[in-house]
Formats: sequence, C-alpha cells, structure tokens
Amino acid sequence: MRFMRKQACKPQLPGMTATELTALLTQWGEPRFRAKQILDWRNKGILKPGLMSNLPIHLRNYLEKFVDCCPLRLVRRETSRDGTRKYVFSLHSPRMSGKMIESVMIPENNRVTVCLSSQVGCVLDCPFCHTGTQGFTGNLNKGEIIAQVLGIMQDLNEDPLPPDLHQNVTHIVYMGMGEPLANESGVHGSLALLLDPEGLNISRRRITVSTSGLIPQIERLGAHYPVNLAISLHAADDKLRDVLVPINRKYPLADLRRCLDRFPLGHQRHITLEYVLLDQVNDRECDLEALSRFVRPHRERVNLIQFNPYPGSPYSGTPKERMNEFAQRLISKGIRATVRRSRGQDIMAACGQLKADVANKMGHRVSGEEN
Ligand code: SAH
Ligand code: SF4
Repeated sequence: MRFMRKQACKPQLPGMTATELTALLTQWGEPRFRAKQILDWRNKGILKPGLMSNLPIHLRNYLEKFVDCCPLRLVRRETSRDGTRKYVFSLHSPRMSGKMIESVMIPENNRVTVCLSSQVGCVLDCPFCHTGTQGFTGNLNKGEIIAQVLGIMQDLNEDPLPPDLHQNVTHIVYMGMGEPLANESGVHGSLALLLDPEGLNISRRRITVSTSGLIPQIERLGAHYPVNLAISLHAADDKLRDVLVPINRKYPLADLRRCLDRFPLGHQRHITLEYVLLDQVNDRECDLEALSRFVRPHRERVNLIQFNPYPGSPYSGTPKERMNEFAQRLISKGIRATVRRSRGQDIMAACGQLKADVANKMGHRVSGEEN
C-alpha cells in the first residue's frame, strides 16, 4: 500500500483536519464515520489508539502503525505552588528529533490558559529574553503545536485540577518559546485547527498571538485569523526599541502604528501592548510620555510585565512599587493599564527564562493578569 512506503513522514494525528483524516481512512477502505470517532477522541486529548474503545482492533493497529499519533513525548512536568504546571516535551519527527520545547498550563477559577511554543529558540534576539539569546533551531509544525494543547488536556484528564479551579482548557496564548509570526505555516495551521468546529472549536476571542512586530505577518494574521493580538512593544521610542526589540530596525514604530490601526478588531476587543519594565532603561518619565503618545486608548491596552531575570541577563526589573506607579500614571492619562502577575515562579515558569535543552535549567514565560 502507498501509505506504507512513507513511514518517515507519517501524518500526525494532532494536526489532521477532518478532510485529511477522511481521505486517509478512505484510502484504507474504512467508512467515513470513523473519522469523526477518531477526532472526537483526539479533541478530548486522547491520542493513544488503544484507548479509542469504539474503534475496531484492526483500525487501532493501523493508526498505531501508519499515523504519528503523539508527536510529542512528555519528558517532565513540574507543578508550582500556585497550581501552574510546566511541561517539557521532546519532539521525535525526523526533522526535529531530540529537540525540546516547553508549554505551560495556568489554572484559575474561571479559566485555564495554555501557553504554547511555536519555535525551538528564536532568531530575533531581544536582549532581555533568554530564548532570544539561544539562537534558533527549528519551526514547529501545526501538529507539534496542537499536540501541546492535547498533551495538556490528557494530563488534566489523568490528574484533574483541584475542584475550586476550572477543569478544562479555555484559553490559548502563543507566548511560549519563539516568534509565532516567524513560523506562519505552523502557526496558521494550528490556528485553523483551534478555531475549527470539527477541531478544538475554541473561540477566536480566547486565542492570543503575541509578536515582536512583524508587520506583513500581522497583516496576514488579521486577514486570515483575526484572533487577539499582543505586541511586544517594550519601548515607544525608535532609538530605544531598536535595542530592546531589534526587529524594530526593520519595522519601526511609525509603520507598526499604521499596521495596528488597520488590524481588525471586533466589538469590545482591543490590542494588548506588552511592556516589560526594565529599571532605568524604559521606565523613566520620558518613556512614560512616549508610551502615552503611542497608545490609542480606545483600541489598545498596556500590559506591564515584570522582568524575569536569567543567569547573565544584562537588565534588572523595575521594583514592584514603581511598576504600580507607572501603571497608575498611564491610567490617569486615560490608558487602560494592567500589571501582569507572574505565575509559577518557583518552578522557573516565568516570562522570558525559557531554555530549549532539558539538560540545562529550564524556565518559561507564563503569566496571569491583575489590575
Ligand atoms: N516572540 C513573541 C512571543 C513570546 S514572548 C514576542 O516577543 O511577543 C512573550 C512575552 O514575554 C513577550 O512580550 C516578551 O517580550 C516577554 N519576555 C521575554 N523575555 C522576558 C523576560 N526576561 N522577562 C519578562 N518578559 C519577557
Ligand atoms: Fe524572540 Fe519574543 Fe524573545 Fe524577542 S521576546 S527574542 S521575539 S521570543
């Protein structure tokens, strides 16, 4: 059979659409309704064919043999005192074999947010970000991105959260390792599956893509997948942003401004401007003034992020009190500003500390928000 010759690049179950799976099953001579049965399992985070109890044994065997049902292997899970769980997954496709990524699950009483990685490392080299200092070693495909969500669902099935917390994944943020918009094929493919009613069926209001500001890619995202947008602004002055977010040299603030003004926003939605507060670097009076001039208060809100240091990091964070003061000053200018509360700090699960190699000490960016 033709599908037997292509073992090296088996189709990945987590990334398959209903159409793709139906086509494969038809090739195997199976009835179409089996696709729905398999996807119902998959969409609940059940990826092992052996557990798909309504499938005939021969079909479970076919899936085992000819489909890559779990492209990620859970290597380690750590749970923070605040309930945040950090997952280290290894990749095993021939393309990515042996590489590691991290994902984070942040539980709250009314929601569960999953923070996804889109690349191994990042090429963009923002000097305050640990991922950026490690170089880039590969893009995740849509199956590897969705498999993070499914792997976390599976973990929640096996080890449920305490009853006072929400039990199911409700929100997705692309704020893990990598620059999502530098991996459009993987990220667009994964967004399509998250939004697909036959896929994970998550509302676009509950999905957020964070980017350092790749303008053509933001425009394409808005045109095809108008999910929530978060921009890593970090400075509202070109000279400073050229240093903190080096992609600014290619896409300067005036261009970013025009791009954000055109980004499609639904009723009551807004763009988030992320701003890591670095002591005496971007938290001065002049920085506050520049930021206030940049923000469009009716369309945008500012999310102030506490800097998470990592070994050898060249910056230190603005003290908590001054962060609150900075937020208050923005609010007094009519700008909606929140301070992001770091979650999972005791397990190194905080923004910008991510490392790709499990042999090294790993951390991750993850956060909730508070006013
Ligand atoms: N590459 C994308 C998405 C991942 S980063 C981006 O840059 O937007 C998610 C957020 O964490 C970004 O706003 C990023 O700037 C921020 N971040 C990176 N390093 C950090 C650090 N050391 N402390 C706090 N936030 C950090
Ligand atoms: Fe890459 Fe984002 Fe880190 Fe910049 S902040 S280096 S874009 S992951």
